[in-house]
Amino acid sequence: MKGKKLITGLSVLALCASLASPTFATNSTNGNLTNDNQVYSVNGFTDYAEMVKRLKQIESNSQGKVALEVVGQSNRGRDIYKARVGNGDRVVLIESEIHGNEKTGTEALLNILQYVGSSNSTQAKKIRDEITLVVLPKMNPDASELDRRGNDLSWAEVVEDFPQLSEASKPAWNYYASGVRQERDYTGKPGFDVNRDFNPDLNYVPQAEDFPGASNKPGWYITPESQTVRDVYKSLQAEFGKVDVFVDLHHQGQYYVEGTDDIVTMSLSADFVPDPNTASGAKYAEYADNYNFEFSKQLNLAAYNALQSIGNNSPFNNITLYSQNLDLPGTALGSFALNGSGTVLFEVRGQSHSLGQKKKGQLVKAVETGLYGIINGVTDGSVEELNAEEYDDIPLTSYSPGL
Ligand SMILES: [Zn+2]
Repeated sequence: MKGKKLITGLSVLALCASLASPTFATNSTNGNLTNDNQVYSVNGFTDYAEMVKRLKQIESNSQGKVALEVVGQSNRGRDIYKARVGNGDRVVLIESEIHGNEKTGTEALLNILQYVGSSNSTQAKKIRDEITLVVLPKMNPDASELDRRGNDLSWAEVVEDFPQLSEASKPAWNYYASGVRQERDYTGKPGFDVNRDFNPDLNYVPQAEDFPGASNKPGWYITPESQTVRDVYKSLQAEFGKVDVFVDLHHQGQYYVEGTDDIVTMSLSADFVPDPNTASGAKYAEYADNYNFEFSKQLNLAAYNALQSIGNNSPFNNITLYSQNLDLPGTALGSFALNGSGTVLFEVRGQSHSLGQKKKGQLVKAVETGLYGIINGVTDGSVEELNAEEYDDIPLTSYSPGL
């Protein structure tokens, strides 16, 4: 029954809500009453100052179990924080708000840090014993404070940092020099999509001839935010040998579970670059030994199963696969998958400013539930027993409702 209404065209567009939001209201049997014309305040979300305060409280309450560290600065000088908890030999790295208007992930990470870092429950202790959980909440804080997708960095500032780029024929293709995107005007305050600035070669040095680049080519680590994440990733590789799991928390437009009128609560994906072990992924052949698509599929299933277990006919069941067969090596997920991490994309419905308070709580719960599915599955090893082929049974995403 699959194949009629797939978002096959999505691969040529940017990940995450680059499509115009629908402007109609829907009332489905699952109670998914929505009106996307409504723009909500984002005041209900944790802003940067509140996040820093809360992280410090979590560290203090944990009595030494959570270690907070400033690992870099955004272009506007905001500290980027890393929080680490647990002493296990498997590493789970999770980041949120690489796009600053995609805020539910940060809320979920703070809640998880609080629990794993302070609870004396058997489950929390087991997590701390078996894994090392490293989180980078709000890793693009300038974008978060502007509640927009791009960071706050001009091409001129990039060229100041990398003078060799004055020879480039054009700025990077993922540079928003001006104009309105997702209700935010970049005129006079340009920025980059940081999630196209990654490169599977973690030691890549920017070169003028590699610009302006393209969606199916690697990025350059020209933004301080991607450099910070890359440096954290490399330090964990040096300490543990590899970063076992990497999860990136996003939002997307509003879509439907294929064949239904149910609005998607969240989409998942394990698929960001063509498999280097196949003909279509031949250009990534040097990464073939690292790449572990099967483990990424198992991790996605762990998240999916946790959400399905909440109950029938709940919004938590409306989980789909994000667009598949992508070639996005400039994304953090694409680059880190090629470096051997099991990778999972979360794409929560709607941008932060199109969610009401009720939906916010529900969507944060969906992210938390999916993340605990992954964390618990890695902690007890059950994730490796999942049948990776069942990944392909997760429903696909549709643009339009179908009954
Ligand atoms: Zn995003």
